[in-house]
Amino acid sequence: MKTKYRLFFLVLIVISLFISCKVQPISGNGIALGTSCSITVYRGDKDIDEYFNEINREERLFSRNIDTSDISRVNKNAGIKKTEVSEETYKLVEYGLSLSRITDGAFNVAIGSLVDIWDDEKVPSDAEIQKALGLIDYNKVILTLEDMKYYIYLEDKGMQLDLGGIAKGYIAQKLGERIEEGIINLGGNIYVKGRDDDNPWKIGLQDPEKDRGDYFSIERICEGNVVTSGSYERYFIQDGIVYHHILDGSTGWPARGNVLSVSVIGPDGTTCDGLSTAFFVMGVEKTSEVLKRFSGYKCVFVLENHETVTLQ
Ligand code: AMP
Ligand code: MG
Repeated sequence: MKTKYRLFFLVLIVISLFISCKVQPISGNGIALGTSCSITVYRGDKDIDEYFNEINREERLFSRNIDTSDISRVNKNAGIKKTEVSEETYKLVEYGLSLSRITDGAFNVAIGSLVDIWDDEKVPSDAEIQKALGLIDYNKVILTLEDMKYYIYLEDKGMQLDLGGIAKGYIAQKLGERIEEGIINLGGNIYVKGRDDDNPWKIGLQDPEKDRGDYFSIERICEGNVVTSGSYERYFIQDGIVYHHILDGSTGWPARGNVLSVSVIGPDGTTCDGLSTAFFVMGVEKTSEVLKRFSGYKCVFVLENHETVTLQ
């Protein structure tokens, strides 16, 4: 009897020791990049303010809403002169350009002038659409490196770079370098790190037709990104028709496939973000071709007929 009690207390002590040793996470929330961001760190750099400072710093480079950003300055000088930018902006635009080529323009880093005319939340005129379509040729984005200085030039006046389709994924991945275990969520662009197969992160994929937080499936990953593009994320309604924010550069209109959302899961955040935008425009068939070039990536479509299609 006595031994039984001893054993019982020993087990209790071990359990309480285990609980007291469990790492307490540190987390923070805030609005940045035009969306709500949350960061939870179990192990790694725990100064949450530093993460938000970093997000703000990147936003000041990439945002089209900030007059002095690298991207705004390049856009203002379109058709006039090349603009010196930071190495980081240069490299992100360079990667955006390569994604534009690989996806045959479904992701288009130079789509800004088309985004602008749809941003007013009313259907633009045909003339406006035609004019914008003449200003989104990504082959006219010229990158030059001279004397260790980085320059970007847009060949036609009125052209506009737009990094809205890749910046969040890029920043989430970059912040991820500061952590050993944790989760970074920039408005649904999720980066996780630091778990093993016995205890992976469980990331819910949003059901595009239900309330936020209503998931249709769970992704289990130890480290990587889950990025979703969906027509439910940002849209306006005119005459009973929904017009969302992901544009098809071949028509000038919001992409009109049968896709409600597509999530891309993989090791690099910029790639996941860019591909999610591209795959939304491309639809299932074209995606299955392009995805072959990205090993280690998978995607999950939710279609208008409620079917889900997983490709990898
Ligand atoms: P995401 O939510 O990542 O799919 O990105 C959508 C954002 O990317 C939009 O708000 C625009 O700023 C921009 N965008 C829209 N359509 C495209 C496109 N076809 N290629 C690249 N960027 C786009
Ligand atoms: Mg994207």
